Amino acid sequence: MSYVRISEEEFREATPDCFEEFPNPGGELVFFYPVGSFLVKIYSSIIRGESRGVGKDAIRVVLYSNQTEKGTLSRKIYRVPGWGERTIKVAREFYRLAKKADEVSCEVCGAATIPRRSKFGYFLGCSKYPKCRGTTSLKILR
Ligand SMILES: [Zn+2]
Repeated sequence: MSYVRISEEEFREATPDCFEEFPNPGGELVFFYPVGSFLVKIYSSIIRGESRGVGKDAIRVVLYSNQTEKGTLSRKIYRVPGWGERTIKVAREFYRLAKKADEVSCEVCGAATIPRRSKFGYFLGCSKYPKCRGTTSLKILR
């Protein structure tokens, strides 16, 4: 893979206007967008104006839920050509999953649901996991 350097201006331009900059003094450039009880965050891997050199540092898109401390979904986007489109695609996907999760309650206990990912793809899991193991397939919701 050939990695590319991304300038802060390039990254700002590629990020949809609805995203706001997340305060992260001294750290990497982070953007966020709230969706109901969720938050989509984009970690740019850009510090002090430019992305770090070749290596593992990737752009990350993370979906956070009010229900849990940790990110519920996370995806790495390597800094290779096409990174901008892929970042937006993942952010959109997380946005749609968050919207769906806010509309659907756990079939078992009625609690809120959270988007999760398994090797079979995305699904909605109970926010009370591991106490409740209720899941909803996203296929039957379409
Ligand atoms: Zn449940």
